[in-house]
Amino acid sequence: MTESGIDLNRIYDAVVVGSGAAGGMAAHVLTTHGLQVLLLEAGKKLPIEQELRSMQWPYENPYRGELPPDRHSLSFNEYTIRKPPYGPGFEKSKHLHSYIGDTDYVKNIVVDERENPFTGTNYAWVRARCLGGKTNIWGRLALRLSDYDFKAKSRDGYGEDWPISYSDLAPYYDKVDLYLGITGVKENLPYLPDSIFQRPTKLNCAEVTLKQGLQKMGRVLTQYRAGVTSDGLKHNQYRSRCFGRGACERKGGCDIHAAFDSPTGLIYPAMDTGNLTLRTNAVVREVTVDPKTGKASGVHFMDSETMKDYTVRARVVIVAASTLESARLLLLSKSRLYPNGLANSSGHVGHNFCEHVMGPGVVGQAKDLVGKAPTLDDGRPGGFYLTRFRNLTEKHPKFIRGYGFEGGSGARMFPEGTDRHGFGASFKEEVRQNQGSYISMGAFGEVLARFENYVDLDPVVKDKWGIPALRFHYKFGDNEHRMAEDMKETAQEMFEAAGFKIVRVSSRVLTEGWSIHELGTARMGSDPKTSVLNQFQQSHDVKNLFVVDGSAFVNASCQNPTWTIMSLCWRSCDYLADQLGKGNL
Ligand SMILES: Cc1cc2nc3c(=O)[nH]c(=O)nc-3n(C[C@H](O)[C@H](O)[C@H](O)COP(=O)(O)OP(=O)(O)OC[C@H]3O[C@@H](n4cnc5c(N)ncnc54)[C@H](O)[C@@H]3O)c2cc1C
Ligand code: SF4
Repeated sequence: MTESGIDLNRIYDAVVVGSGAAGGMAAHVLTTHGLQVLLLEAGKKLPIEQELRSMQWPYENPYRGELPPDRHSLSFNEYTIRKPPYGPGFEKSKHLHSYIGDTDYVKNIVVDERENPFTGTNYAWVRARCLGGKTNIWGRLALRLSDYDFKAKSRDGYGEDWPISYSDLAPYYDKVDLYLGITGVKENLPYLPDSIFQRPTKLNCAEVTLKQGLQKMGRVLTQYRAGVTSDGLKHNQYRSRCFGRGACERKGGCDIHAAFDSPTGLIYPAMDTGNLTLRTNAVVREVTVDPKTGKASGVHFMDSETMKDYTVRARVVIVAASTLESARLLLLSKSRLYPNGLANSSGHVGHNFCEHVMGPGVVGQAKDLVGKAPTLDDGRPGGFYLTRFRNLTEKHPKFIRGYGFEGGSGARMFPEGTDRHGFGASFKEEVRQNQGSYISMGAFGEVLARFENYVDLDPVVKDKWGIPALRFHYKFGDNEHRMAEDMKETAQEMFEAAGFKIVRVSSRVLTEGWSIHELGTARMGSDPKTSVLNQFQQSHDVKNLFVVDGSAFVNASCQNPTWTIMSLCWRSCDYLADQLGKGNL
């Protein structure tokens, strides 16, 4: 796949900023409509198969898969006792990464915190600046939202409803399922709609035991719904079906691209249409505006290596730099016409920032599996998903909204969750006897969207390219802490009901940001005074400007967001192409 040269004299139909789930989807949909699209990505195009090395055994790696000694990734404690920017105090390490950058396989994918500083409140901000962004290493749990989420305010009175319903988005979820592939099992749950699934993975012994235990409590455990093609995709030559080789358990994606990533799933096929120009190493620093019309005219970007500045023009500008970077770009794009930043007449850009709270969970042991022959349990894209059960039919007295659990069990390359201690031959024997019998799960809960949780631009600190850094004003609130208490209690209660020995229960709430599901900084809505975008992710203020990533979310729900980001983006880009064709943009 080669990049074609950018033409600075041309007016492109659309310029897309960012090449992750959202930018890749915009490129796919718009090029399929025949539009001439320029895709700008701040990071490099990495030789991704050489980075991921899914088939590499630990003993083939000089550091057994750990980071090289000149690099450091931030731990939970370091996030807790240090304040951003996280560079100072870590001078001994040449490169500093977020907590997710703790393996040799992702060191070039996640950013160096020193080159990309931010300030304000503590936040475990994970960024991947390279072609495909975070989709190169995402966890692949691919869930739909429902009207329990889109119409949450109508149910409990908090926040705002989305300007769309599930029925508006369902056809686009279907399109994403069919184009990218997803595995799972139908459950017919009104609060977690089914996808059009390919062949599911299998639950193992302890997981089936838990599922059966939960059925008695009226709770649902289902196979991990993975954004992975298990049957293959005839229309995509860049992806293979999943062979269940086992490296899915390692942070760092799938080098045969059975798991969805934006380059092979969306961008390379878009390039094959002949309608896409891709420019990597292109750090967009401003969306430009025509002072006569007030419309977006293109963008200014810098070459990340040479620092040279460029301007490109387009009929439509599509911002897809990820929730927080997109807010930053809008705030950076100040002009005489838009002194508060672009698309910000409401003052809501950067606000209503929300995500998922994580931490509470449980490790248990199925005693009847001790000493049984090991099975190949990590050769699948995920274990199980235990669906939301709070505030569906009943009303919880202590908090609103809900949470779900991700978990798994079984034998792994490196035994996990073990409560064995000791050394030597007897210790090894103990580990072997027990390893396949452990089961664990951790919760993901909705963080309420609140105006007072926001990001703005730091007046002093700049990144490596001289661009003002983001400043965070963001903390979990009482609802999140009360929900976290309940997560811990129900996790233990459910494992006990399944008959597992409790090994460990965690009540610790992880640092804000840990879920890597940032959402809501340019929310959609019907009222331009309280929202930034309309239902098609089109700016209320600037009609040829679209923001197509997670920033458009009105609330976070408790389901992982990427499948919804891509479905919304597909819907918005269909609308965009139609409106452009009619001369309305
Ligand atoms: C380890 C991990 C596990 C995850 N697990 C899950 C999961 O199980 N399920 C789920 O739904 N989600 C998961 N996620 C989150 C998922 O990856 C994101 O929701 C998704 O990638 C968001 O897509 P995006 O396009 O908005 O952002 P990204 O994928 O981050 O892409 C944004 C792109 O924009 C580029 N960019 C930023 N600023 C600029 C600029 N100024 N100029 C040009 N380009 C710019 C970036 O370099 C990047 O390539 C996970 C993420 C990680 C890291
Ligand atoms: S289990 Fe499947 S999706 Fe996961 S790394 Fe292996 S081939 Fe890829």
